[in-house]
Amino acid sequence: MPQYDVIVIGAGHAGCEAALAASRMGSATLLLTLDWEKIALMPCNPAIGGVGKGHMVREIDALGGQMAQVIDRTGIQFRMLNASKGPAVQGNRAQADKDRYRLEMRRVLEAQPGLDIAMEEVEDLLVHDNVIQGVQTKPGNEYHAPCVIVTTGTFLRGRTHVGMTTREAGRVGEPPSTKLAETFRRLGFEVGRLKTGTPPRLLASTIDFSRCEQQDPDDNPRPFSFRNTRINDLPQVPCHITYTNDRTHSVIQKNLHLSPLYSGKIEGVGPRYCPSIEDKIVKFSDKTEHHIFLEPEGLDTDWVYPNGISTSLDEQVQRDLVHTIPGLENAEIVQPGYAVEYDYIPPTQLHATLETRRVSGLFHAGQLNGTSGYEEAAGQGLIAGINAALKAQDRPRLVLTRMDAYLGVMIDDLVTKGTEEPYRMFTSRAEYRLILRQDNADQRLMHLGHEMGLIDKEAFEHSVEQSKRVEQEVARLKQTTVVPNAEHLQKLSSLGIEELKGPTSLAGILRRPDVRYESLAEKYGEVELNFLEREQVEIQIKYESFIDRQNQLVEKQKKLENYVIPADFDFKQLSGLSREVVQKLDNIRPATLGQASRISGITPTAVQLIMLHLERVLRRRGSAA
Ligand code: FAD
Repeated sequence: MPQYDVIVIGAGHAGCEAALAASRMGSATLLLTLDWEKIALMPCNPAIGGVGKGHMVREIDALGGQMAQVIDRTGIQFRMLNASKGPAVQGNRAQADKDRYRLEMRRVLEAQPGLDIAMEEVEDLLVHDNVIQGVQTKPGNEYHAPCVIVTTGTFLRGRTHVGMTTREAGRVGEPPSTKLAETFRRLGFEVGRLKTGTPPRLLASTIDFSRCEQQDPDDNPRPFSFRNTRINDLPQVPCHITYTNDRTHSVIQKNLHLSPLYSGKIEGVGPRYCPSIEDKIVKFSDKTEHHIFLEPEGLDTDWVYPNGISTSLDEQVQRDLVHTIPGLENAEIVQPGYAVEYDYIPPTQLHATLETRRVSGLFHAGQLNGTSGYEEAAGQGLIAGINAALKAQDRPRLVLTRMDAYLGVMIDDLVTKGTEEPYRMFTSRAEYRLILRQDNADQRLMHLGHEMGLIDKEAFEHSVEQSKRVEQEVARLKQTTVVPNAEHLQKLSSLGIEELKGPTSLAGILRRPDVRYESLAEKYGEVELNFLEREQVEIQIKYESFIDRQNQLVEKQKKLENYVIPADFDFKQLSGLSREVVQKLDNIRPATLGQASRISGITPTAVQLIMLHLERVLRRRGSAA
């Protein structure tokens, strides 16, 4: 019977990261998937990143994950979103060549030592006394391991809808995973139902792009990976923008009775932040238009992804609505849009390591946990892969907090609050946005990636050196003062500064809104810094007071996070807690007082009570020692 350290079920975005992380950490790993050709497939928009999501891709990279490397090699349009806004809300986004992306990820997986890949459907989880033993696959094979990571996306009891036509499918053209879905029920997991959808794909040669606005890539594309200084050599291509109008809206309104969403056929809850076009027309009926981005799916394909018109309306209605849109009057649909309903396992049943509380050694990651999006899935896959390997090697687990990373924010949200609709990342979910920037993910996380063995010595030392140079330059700018004499005023006039009230530090000058580090360094520079270092110096100086304030808040929050609640803590013994509060605490089983404080319905008084009790226990232990 083949024995592994870690088995990963599913080779989507979560599964690929999980399998790579575990095997790179030295665990013998098996990746089981339904279809070799669909490894790392993008079933929806052919793009990686964006605001919030782009932050997570940088964090995945800093921890030694793969997603950033693959998109840097296969992206065909890079754009920094919110480039004119503050650094906390900027996010890199790249249009992917969908086939190149999937093939590149597959190449990396196939080349990974210590990782076996097999195309077999997992039908059952082997569990003994609430401890995972391995999996059983459709051909009847058993594979054994002390850790199993499930990343089955939308496949558990998946059902697709196009108009009134319903099919049992995990995605279009792929079978659902029915037996495995039953396993979760048998094991006693709470199971929920969600839905998501995708737009019809159009044939580029039938689109009149001259009737659309063109959106060009950035002139200086920024790689996602800290370990890359440039992106690939592929041609970079534009996207186009067009809009729906009252004729489109009227086609949809008239045909809502043919929508599985509005006729009650779909029970699962859909993504609020990525609604279908029929949802947008109904919920935002005062809007006269909705924009649509026409995104190429790759360099060697004629398929176009019309971002903004996800729909599960009847196929003929899809054609009618598409033809009302400028530029799409004659557009041919090559694949109709559809919705998919699927089982998810509410993530409040997980520890922050992504291991389930019900079955030891069983980890869940990706869409299975109720999230939506490649980046969300990849981030969870990486953390689950790391923790499974750590568990198999009997090493302490890795838990990222809300103060460390967006990945920490996402996982804390999932395990503490759960989700009743597909969860996606936004910068507004993070309390400490100025600290969790996409530009400093390496400073925040690379030491952990290095410790895990996922970031090599050279990359880590390069990052440390970079931070040192930034620190020294920031210190120099603070310590160097210029006086308002003729020599300095002449130098400063080229920066748009005509007077100085008195001696001013170079940092003080850089804090002025119109002054950029680049121009200041031309006059007062002493060291040659690279682009990333120059950017860091500028951010650290310009936003220093805001960053300091957030750091103070972080220190306060850390105190709560440092109160560890023992796993077997009996909340019932605390007099003063209501039955409802005890029930909530028992359901979630928070690991720290900080986590307890974020459970909805847990009052500050309840937090105070638990804190007093934990302090008493600590004091008792201290005096006993
Ligand atoms: P997936 O990428 O779905 O991968 C699942 C993997 O599990 C596959 O490799 C499959 O072969 C394998 N598998 C399943 N069952 C078994 C089994 N029993 N044994 C072995 N292997 C198995 N995201 C957005 O952000 N916005 C959107 O609008 C959006 N729309 C979507 C529309 C559709 C129709 C679909 C299908 C997805 C959409 N997504 C959207 C979601 C996005 O595609 C997913 O969030 C992301 O791919 C999830 O990654 P994952 O790794 O969790 O699962």
